[in-house]
Amino acid sequence: MATEKACKICRRLVTGNTCPACKTSDLSKNWKGILVILDSDSEIAKKAGILAPGRYAVKVK
Ligand SMILES: [Zn+2]
Repeated sequence: MATEKACKICRRLVTGNTCPACKTSDLSKNWKGILVILDSDSEIAKKAGILAPGRYAVKVK
């Protein structure tokens, strides 16, 4: 079902082979849960250490 991969650095969900934020190809297919960040100033984003809005994995192995 999930064709997306998660960036191992920022946990952003990526459909291609490179994370648009980190420019890394260090991606993992082994991730769980989706965290949708609409506002990077929100408490959730701060707690998760997320700086940009987007879709993120909750856990990346
Ligand atoms: Zn990244």
